[in-house]
Amino acid sequence: MAKGRIAEILRTGKPGEAVTVQGWVRTKRELKEFTFVEVNDGSCMANLQVVLNPDLTDYAAILRQLNTGASVEVTGEIVSSPAKGQRIELKADTVQVYGEADPQTYVLQKKRHSFEFLRTIAHLRSRTNTYGAVFRVRNACAAAVHQFFQERGFLWIHTPIITASDCEGAGELFSVTSLDLNHLPLTETKTVDFSQDFFGKRAFLTVSGQLEAEIMALAFGNVYTFGPTFRAENSNTSRHLAEFWMIEPEMAFCDLDGNMDLAEAFLKHIFKSVLEQCPEDLEFFNQRIDNSVLATADNIINNEFERITYTEAIALLEKSDRTFEYPVSWGLDLQSEHERYLAEELFKKPVIVTDYPREIKAFYMRQNDDEKTVRAMDVLAPKVGEIIGGSQREERLDILQKRMEALQINPDELWWYLDLRRYGTVPHAGFGLGFERVVQFMTGMANIRDVIPFPRAPQTIDF
Ligand code: ATP
Ligand code: MG
Ligand code: MG
Ligand code: MG
Repeated sequence: MAKGRIAEILRTGKPGEAVTVQGWVRTKRELKEFTFVEVNDGSCMANLQVVLNPDLTDYAAILRQLNTGASVEVTGEIVSSPAKGQRIELKADTVQVYGEADPQTYVLQKKRHSFEFLRTIAHLRSRTNTYGAVFRVRNACAAAVHQFFQERGFLWIHTPIITASDCEGAGELFSVTSLDLNHLPLTETKTVDFSQDFFGKRAFLTVSGQLEAEIMALAFGNVYTFGPTFRAENSNTSRHLAEFWMIEPEMAFCDLDGNMDLAEAFLKHIFKSVLEQCPEDLEFFNQRIDNSVLATADNIINNEFERITYTEAIALLEKSDRTFEYPVSWGLDLQSEHERYLAEELFKKPVIVTDYPREIKAFYMRQNDDEKTVRAMDVLAPKVGEIIGGSQREERLDILQKRMEALQINPDELWWYLDLRRYGTVPHAGFGLGFERVVQFMTGMANIRDVIPFPRAPQTIDF
């Protein structure tokens, strides 16, 4: 008996074939002559309709158990379906119920649950249509990321989670403490000294793998990271998580233009690939979540991104007749409303803004000759704003040292980073793409917490 995934069966199953499916009951409809049960196994949005005939052994008992949420294995024969909108259905020969779900306590209601509510119900959230689609798209995005870099000969490297330095200098760090739980009953946690550290040294959860990626790029040429990063963002925005995944390519012998070209090709590739892999899920988002999802994908794939400098961006913002909540002035960072205005309203496509003032960017960015700006680039996307932050890195030892001194960054802590400039330095560049922002952008989901399986944010840590 062939065990099948429902996606595959719905696509290729032929009447007369015998199959076994395993999944969870979505709905049950009892009619006089037989009962319809919709089963979903997460492989696709669609359910497989299972038909139970009363001549089935234990028919009455099975019906009592098969409520929404119950887990089930059905073996039977594929038959053509007389119902509209579906080609085939499964006529059950044997049914095994693995786990029941008590209809009195299983939180189901006619109207749709809010995403906020679903975030608090572990067993239900991942079985809804929306999250099913989100996580299949997320998976396709991740596969597309690896495919893109692997095809281009980039080495996937694994940078550490526990680090000693604050790469971005933004001070949004979680610190790492060591606890000996063998000698510390959990009830006594109140007495724990949380100033304990990483075997006598200060340690933090990484905010970015970039500095380490530079070490690897200066040996392997082109590398990329794809892993979790952590930021103590004690804010409740719809675009920030405390734990999010970042993709960070780093390229030796590369300048800002090469960096921008790669970022643009990369985003185009991800969209193209997910459109191919998950057409039904994207259609669902377009119909149910945001009716510009498909147009956005088309826009990304088929248009060249706009490229402007920060100075030009400020001029455009100053000229606009929109009133912004936050001030616009040369020297101030762009806020999300400014970023969205540029991408969404003015250019109506992604915009790459380059050459930001040095004072609002991290210490490692390559300085321009004007001594005011650095070779930074942010890719701004409609709806989400900043989606990529990157730069050409400062490869000249003396200039980097001067900058670190001005920012009071202790050179002893970054001796290894400076060594990269002492021995065989080259121009190099890279960027960081927030993985959840891309998934958000692609699906049209309003809140970033709804595109990651286990969101970590203020007050969100239960599961
Ligand atoms: P923002 O201005 O939105 O706070 P950032 O400039 O602090 O972002 P970078 O340090 O440039 O972020 O990080 C690179 C990318 O990582 C960003 O372009 C964004 O896509 C993503 N990112 C940054 N912070 C978060 C976060 N807290 N949650 C999710 N993604 C994030
Ligand atoms: Mg930030
Ligand atoms: Mg930013
Ligand atoms: Mg940034």
